[in-house]
Amino acid sequence: MISVPDAQARILAGIAAAAPEIVPVAGCLGRITADDLRASVDVPPTDNSAVDGYAVASADIPANGTRELEVVAEIAAGSVFTGTLGRGQALRIMTGAPMPAGADTVYPQEIVTRAGHRVALPAIAVGANVRERGEDVKAGAVVLPSGTVLRPQELGVAASLGLSQLVVRQRPRVAILSTGDEVAEPGGERKPGQIYDSNRFALRALAEAAGAEVTDYGIVPDLFGELRARLLAAAATAHVVLTSGGVSVGDYDLVKAVLEDAGGIDFWQVAMQPGRPIAVGRIGAAHFFGLPGNPVACMLTFHLFVRPTLYKLGGRRELFGARFHAVAMEPMRKKVGRSEFKRGVLTYTGERWEVRTTGPQGSGILTSMTCANCFILVEEERSDVAAGERVWVEPFTTL
Ligand code: AMP
Ligand code: MG
Repeated sequence: MISVPDAQARILAGIAAAAPEIVPVAGCLGRITADDLRASVDVPPTDNSAVDGYAVASADIPANGTRELEVVAEIAAGSVFTGTLGRGQALRIMTGAPMPAGADTVYPQEIVTRAGHRVALPAIAVGANVRERGEDVKAGAVVLPSGTVLRPQELGVAASLGLSQLVVRQRPRVAILSTGDEVAEPGGERKPGQIYDSNRFALRALAEAAGAEVTDYGIVPDLFGELRARLLAAAATAHVVLTSGGVSVGDYDLVKAVLEDAGGIDFWQVAMQPGRPIAVGRIGAAHFFGLPGNPVACMLTFHLFVRPTLYKLGGRRELFGARFHAVAMEPMRKKVGRSEFKRGVLTYTGERWEVRTTGPQGSGILTSMTCANCFILVEEERSDVAAGERVWVEPFTTL
């Protein structure tokens, strides 16, 4: 039996980031940079006005009272004043227009009095309302280090540097299939003794939310030849092949036998509840995860082992989500020697984070996931939790 952190470390040690590709900025939401992105220009490119108003030289700012200057020209955003402002002169300027030579301060139009070509100015701080060249980004600076998740703000910054395309990691390609004679396709006929397939749909959504491109290889009956052919087909184009079912003691031999024949496999008993058995290895050139059939265990093992793998393949720096302490509002049974993951409801009272379980915690009770907003993690060495004790919680973000 190995611990959850040991299993995570062993899995991640064998994962390298996918190849880079070039993608238009408009298609880069959620993608990961594959290179340090260095600015080749200053943003903004020149000192410019932060307001609509009047640009002046600080020598012309009155120490107290007001002073009248002559308005010599008007400059809109997008045009440039080619002259130099002389003593006693002001320039009418719009937000974003470059500062004229000779000026270092801008008066907002709201605080001046304009009469014809004259403008009366009160005292103001030297340098007020000027945005400096390069105050946002300086040419040469690394703006987005390699491994940055591209959110809307990163896309805006990339565009502000004049870039129309970015070097990002290929999205991880994931192939998914379900195993088991008892598993039926939703929308189709369900024979006596069968259940509808839920894992394939939950896994597809989990993988897509983790940034992967998913191909669905359907449901495979418990037949060696069919499973072998389908797994090899899935492995031909995918970085990662995911199956569910067929790895619990008693019936895992089929997945294991195929993998031993057409790839390589480590079959692990991970010290955790739910989700103890998990098969990890390779099929063809792809990484392989045989996840448990029980739907909660299937989602939990994705959360612990597959998502960090997809994140690492995708080139991210952060592979794990946030975890913090909350106060348990009810007692929780816990066996020493394994990590237990309960479905929790986390609330903030205004003073502290509190958590309770969603009720029955069987690994087949998939609605415990729909009622929950976090996993409660009780560490391996811990025994029963009393109400009022602190427990770790991992809020659901992408599940
Ligand atoms: P197994 O690991 O194949 O023994 O499956 C363990 C449990 O998970 C059994 O109750 C299966 O019926 C159930 N199960 C297996 N595959 C799926 C699936 N794709 N969707 C929902 N439940 C499943
Ligand atoms: Mg099965």
